[in-house]
Amino acid sequence: MATPHQKKHVTASPFASRLRGICFGSYYWLTGRGHMLRGIDRSEQLYRAPRAMLEMESRRRLCRLLSHAIATVPYYRDMAGPLRRDLSEDTAISVLGQMPVLTKDVIRCEHKRLVSEEPGKKVRWNTSGGSTGEPIRLMQDCHMRQELTTNQLLFLSWLGYRLGDLHLLVWGAPAVTFERGFGLHDLIYQRVHNQVYLNCYTISDDVMEIWLRFINTRQPVVIEGYADAMYALSRRILEEQLQMHRPRGIITSAGVLLPTMMDTISAAFGRCPVLNRYGSREVGDVACSCLASRSLHVSELLYHIEIVDENERECPPGVEGDILVTLLTNFTMPLIRYRIEDRGIWDEGLCSCGRTTRRIAAITGRQSDYLLAANGSRVNGTALTTLLYDVPGIRRFQYRQTHPDRVKLSVVPLDARSQEQLSKDLPVRVKRLAGLLRGSTVEVVFVDEIVPSASGKHRYIINEIASTTNPTAHHQHAR
Ligand SMILES: [Zn+2]
Repeated sequence: MATPHQKKHVTASPFASRLRGICFGSYYWLTGRGHMLRGIDRSEQLYRAPRAMLEMESRRRLCRLLSHAIATVPYYRDMAGPLRRDLSEDTAISVLGQMPVLTKDVIRCEHKRLVSEEPGKKVRWNTSGGSTGEPIRLMQDCHMRQELTTNQLLFLSWLGYRLGDLHLLVWGAPAVTFERGFGLHDLIYQRVHNQVYLNCYTISDDVMEIWLRFINTRQPVVIEGYADAMYALSRRILEEQLQMHRPRGIITSAGVLLPTMMDTISAAFGRCPVLNRYGSREVGDVACSCLASRSLHVSELLYHIEIVDENERECPPGVEGDILVTLLTNFTMPLIRYRIEDRGIWDEGLCSCGRTTRRIAAITGRQSDYLLAANGSRVNGTALTTLLYDVPGIRRFQYRQTHPDRVKLSVVPLDARSQEQLSKDLPVRVKRLAGLLRGSTVEVVFVDEIVPSASGKHRYIINEIASTTNPTAHHQHAR
């Protein structure tokens, strides 16, 4: 079998790439979304403006969101009505501090009362498993989705990405994993953005072989990938001393990227820059590291971030606490002080890259767990949450792997009626799960509660096999 570096390289010509860039830009202008492209430059200018100017703009946006939420969202009108009197751009942060923390339980219970009486346009539901295995449903409008896309393009531009460049995603693709296939809208979007997906929900020796060939053949300008998938791939490249294409840069997300992982990924791909992005399905990309530092710049035009202790007091730099996210862009279902169930640590001082945003030194407590299939391949945690997050009636779930070929799925139903329905709905999902796990035995049990881990955080995957095995060595045993 040919090794990846023996493949002939096919590089897109600069002319073809620029032509794609023009098509890309035209698509945005013709569909009335030219402001999104202008937004990339405007955001970058503001992130490089003097700190006071960025703070003022961020407070203005926070004030506008709080005012809208208290006036039009029943839950916030009841919880924080009197605070509206004191609300101004100068007091927005102190008013925010007096508002209740929004937990996933509150979202589940108060659900309809969290939706604004004046929703935005083209509203869609987004169901998220989050990182903790507790499905929640959120309503998101077109304005929010556009702001998130602009922000994604901004982070990519930090790597030197230009519109039309080939953008490879080593990413979980539920459409492929669960056999639905990409919809027409997704296909057009990928075509316009010159995006190609390599589905990383399951990683095996054979799959990595295909990815490596693909990367060397197509030579993507930027690679965006799950941290654990990119790390597994990079370990293999270094172990087998493969000569790989050097992209302009790599951006990772969905899981903790430890400094050693960042170094390994960079070394595997010709010492290219590697950025670490932090975000989630329900809120988008909150922060990203830059070329000058490993701390993560917060996108302060889109998010107001707090890191708080157990008494909900702001932690000083260097002290770990719970991350609370206030999303400044969703006026349909405002998320204010949303406890995302990750922990983080503030950095201090300004970054040498010239951007003046607040920076998170490290995200801690985020799980990037996986299960092992019967044939030794790894099934990514995001695939496992995606499998269940649109099943109604689940309050919480947890996978536990105790043997190489046995997985227990514990489910806390919302109530007795849900349990009855789940008994009918779950077998189909369990069959898909058994397929992903290559025939492992899956046992489903209904339980009243799942005890959180010692850190207080609910873990949705407990892999008792992984703790005694080196996950990066699996490809050597997979055959
Ligand atoms: Zn920086």
